[in-house]
Amino acid sequence: MAYVIGAACVDIMDQSCVEDCPIDCIYTGARKLYIHPEECIDCGACARSCPVDAISWDRDLDPADPDIAHIQDAAAFFYQPLPGQPAPLREPGGAAGLGPVGVDTALITAIPAQGER
Ligand code: SF4
Ligand code: SF4
Repeated sequence: MAYVIGAACVDIMDQSCVEDCPIDCIYTGARKLYIHPEECIDCGACARSCPVDAISWDRDLDPADPDIAHIQDAAAFFYQPLPGQPAPLREPGGAAGLGPVGVDTALITAIPAQGER
């Protein structure tokens, strides 16, 4: 179980959640941020700080909610090779140490830019 960031974060990326995460498990892609599903301790601080309500507890998401796809997508971000990367990120142990990843999953790349949706 973990918290998950949905589509509302795409192209917003204001980093409020990063500042409030006590264990630094929110990683930065190109157009969206991703919570590490294994490193997250389910404290909920990030969800309370997000200005666009992009963050949900995975077990609270209704199966009909479009953000349900972001549970699998967060796992793909860390456990499948991203475009241009030779290997999966797996457990980097902290977003600050890793720095911005700078690429997104195919699901996020396919989302139209804010204003075009
Ligand atoms: S629920 Fe807590 S530990 Fe998990 S990403 Fe949010 S702030 Fe970080
Ligand atoms: S606080 Fe919300 S919109 Fe801002 S970066 Fe985090 S998930 Fe994205």
